[in-house]
Amino acid sequence: MAGGSRITLVNGRLVVPDSPIVLEADGDGIGPEITTNAIRVIDAAVARAYSGNRKIEWIKVPVGDQAEKDLGDRFPESTINALKEYRFMLKGPLTTPVGKGFRSLNVRMRLLLDLYANIRPVKYINGIDSPLRNPEKIDMVIFRENTDDLYTGIEWQYESKEADMVRKLLKDNLNIALDPDAGIGIKPMGKAKTERIARMALRYAIANKRRSVTIMHKGNIMKYTEGAFREWCYGVARNEFAGSFVTEEEAATLGGNAPAGKILLNDRIADNMFQQIITRPDSYDVVLAPNLDGDYISDAAGALIGNIGVLGGANIGDFGGVFEAVHGTAPKYAGKNVANPMGVLKAGELMLTHFGWTEAAALVEMAVASAIRDKKVTNDMARFMGVAPLGTKEFTDNLVNAIAR
Ligand code: NAP
Repeated sequence: MAGGSRITLVNGRLVVPDSPIVLEADGDGIGPEITTNAIRVIDAAVARAYSGNRKIEWIKVPVGDQAEKDLGDRFPESTINALKEYRFMLKGPLTTPVGKGFRSLNVRMRLLLDLYANIRPVKYINGIDSPLRNPEKIDMVIFRENTDDLYTGIEWQYESKEADMVRKLLKDNLNIALDPDAGIGIKPMGKAKTERIARMALRYAIANKRRSVTIMHKGNIMKYTEGAFREWCYGVARNEFAGSFVTEEEAATLGGNAPAGKILLNDRIADNMFQQIITRPDSYDVVLAPNLDGDYISDAAGALIGNIGVLGGANIGDFGGVFEAVHGTAPKYAGKNVANPMGVLKAGELMLTHFGWTEAAALVEMAVASAIRDKKVTNDMARFMGVAPLGTKEFTDNLVNAIAR
């Protein structure tokens, strides 16, 4: 067992010791190589920023393909217990089969620690080849609700006895006739769950002096779920943050813009947002979305900066966090020393920021930006820059050296 001590929650505040224990889950496919290399950079940044007085104590835990092979369980009891005990994890991507097989381990972890916010900053990094003419206008932070909505996994196969029961229940009680060959899913969207993610996003916007918060929804069609999401978010702003926000209607009476010191709060229907983040990305700043909409828009926004391989995400609750790359396991690149470790590294940067270790986070950000500026990058970026690619390890060596300099 490593040294170090647990991160704790005292009176609702996170207390991070100088040697916090953080779990490391390598993940599947390219996971092990990108996670191990990202950790080299994170350790170098922490050592440099705090002159060796702070150090993350990593505990590696089994999860995914390797855990299945070694222990016969993709998400072993020992890992579940470690998560409950230590609450924070840096994680490589994990395989999730489509349409069959086991339930997403990512979703299980989020539910286990009640990590209700998925946060993805999407900001252009100068030098990346983007499909947009003015990618430098992209600077969004997406807050996606992480525990509710269709992701609760309440669904039945079309020919199951449960689907028959639900069909009968609806027919007998509400006179609703579903097609006999329809699979059925339930979309719950709760007030309390919506309010807590809204609270987190609005607080973030205030603390980070952002320009606007946009509530994303499909409330014109799904009135009592996504429509309610919209209403509840406005309610939190009105009831708990009065004075910090102005709605679009209020801004219209004040000449169209939010007055100085106030943040614009508006809402947009999901399909409209998909075209607008392409045609006018600078209209979006903080985005507050239900689970499914948030999942879609996060990748779409990521694509605009040119490469979702460079994006990290954080799954955060009131006490706990799982930090991971946005991309998946990219199995065809596994073990070849070609994958880009930047996604996990950016996730690590978010973790450092969440701990309040902003000096170390800034060093990671600086090292990544200079590698891209100097075109010393892995194949996924090098092929668009017309330069020779670096291997995962060599790319990482450069980052570590840039931090140590
Ligand atoms: P993916 O693993 O993200 O790979 C799609 C493509 O993205 C790759 O073929 C490659 O593109 C590029 N890519 C992604 N990460 C890269 C990296 N670090 N370095 C270089 N190139 C990278 O998506 P997928 O194929 O849809 O998913 C594969 C598995 O990952 C699935 O089982 C899925 O469920 C899982 N997944 C897990 C997570 C998670 O654990 N959070 C998230 C998403 C997906 P090119 O072919 O163009 O080179």
